[in-house]
Amino acid sequence: MLRRHHSVLARLIAPFAPYLIAIGALLPTSATVIAQEPSHPLQPSPQLFLIQHYDADIDLTQASQRRIRGRVKMAVTFALGQSDAVVRFHAKGIDVDSVAWRGIRVEYSTTNNTAATADFAAHVGDVSPSLIPDTLTVWYSGTMTHEGGTLPWGGVHFEGGILYALGVGFTAPYVSTTRHWLPCYDHPSMKATFRARFTMAAGNDVASNGLRTYDTIIGNRRIVEWSMTEPSATYLLTFAHGPYAKVVVPWTTPIEIYALRNTDTIAAKRSFSLVPRMADVLTEHFGPYPFSKIGYCATTRGAMEHQTMVSYPVGLMRGNDTVNTVAAHELAHQWFGDLVTPVDFRHAWLTESFATFSECLWLEKLSDTTRYFFSVKSKADEYITTIAKSEGVFGLVDFPRTGGSSNYPQTIYQKGAVVLAMARTIAGDEAFFAALQSYLNEHRLGTATTDDFVEHLTSALGERTQNFVEQWITGKGWPILSDRKST
Ligand SMILES: [Zn+2]
Repeated sequence: MLRRHHSVLARLIAPFAPYLIAIGALLPTSATVIAQEPSHPLQPSPQLFLIQHYDADIDLTQASQRRIRGRVKMAVTFALGQSDAVVRFHAKGIDVDSVAWRGIRVEYSTTNNTAATADFAAHVGDVSPSLIPDTLTVWYSGTMTHEGGTLPWGGVHFEGGILYALGVGFTAPYVSTTRHWLPCYDHPSMKATFRARFTMAAGNDVASNGLRTYDTIIGNRRIVEWSMTEPSATYLLTFAHGPYAKVVVPWTTPIEIYALRNTDTIAAKRSFSLVPRMADVLTEHFGPYPFSKIGYCATTRGAMEHQTMVSYPVGLMRGNDTVNTVAAHELAHQWFGDLVTPVDFRHAWLTESFATFSECLWLEKLSDTTRYFFSVKSKADEYITTIAKSEGVFGLVDFPRTGGSSNYPQTIYQKGAVVLAMARTIAGDEAFFAALQSYLNEHRLGTATTDDFVEHLTSALGERTQNFVEQWITGKGWPILSDRKST
């Protein structure tokens, strides 16, 4: 189990216990051999440090130039004492100006800064294990960029008067793209709490994760602070800066919509009017909503399930589509992806298959089971007739990322949703949703792998589990049935 209130050491070591046991069996001490490499997007690597919290001051007064000037303080603990320790972080396209440990400037080195992962290592000297964090401070500045490529997504964009960040890239080899605006250990295996104060030109607002804890205007500047007490993967951190107005939709947990204030507030009210019902439906299936706020902010690209603040396409917001399966998909991610995060991006189906399947659950509740089965079938048809041809045929776990595929191929959305619908039919509602909830409860606020999910699926599918997983989750393709009438 991995819970927020476990000891620091348990939180640090738990996701890597199998690796540490393997290493420990081979060598007399593990401290000298782990933490040599940063985590790879497709392979977590145990680190001796744990960043528990990010506290950032970010100047966005030159937003239209995508300029940023910032300082981030990372609260860091160590599991073991060591000499010449390093704290690793990532920063891409922004300049690291200086680094301090416990308030004293320290050296830092870079590896592959312009290549795949953009790693930095701060050399913090001798450290001892402690439950009380020390502070690593990074000052940085520059012009924020995005992942590039033909369909840029991850990173920072300035479009339509909005400056905003999307947390993952479709083609970036490093996948997690928060490093384009915030120096951080940008890997889903290390979740942390987050607080940030944004300074901007008055007349704008910033939407971000958690709750607004401070808001003031001094002269022609506005300062807004956001604070999130639930740990988050770094790819789920975000900000969006623009001429927003907040639309509040009442529910048990506040629902805040950030719409462009001169044009979109009425359309936003209508487009999100059924989100309370959506939240009721997902709560019924998955358990209580896990965070302190539901948020959507208008961006030009999206949608993206940032924790408590979904980036949502402004064009859709204007569409007056009250069924809004996109809003339902992103809301479902707050459980699948945000509350429980894949430990690395090989397991991205643990987010996308479930969010896409949730679109069908929403349509079922809104209409009936016929509409549910129709939506599942249309996803199966789309997968077989279109997606498998353009992306290639592969399993849901550790899929290829090039050719017709990407970091987020449609296969893990549409085929994945159908596979979950099949598991539901085989198991029956009671056992299936109980398995989903026990998976979420065991790994809440932490990380998980496909094996972790399968462990819970076993309680629903029993002895059929292994066959089901091999055929539909790790296996690829689909069966072709033929039928011939005997004469
Ligand atoms: Zn999604």
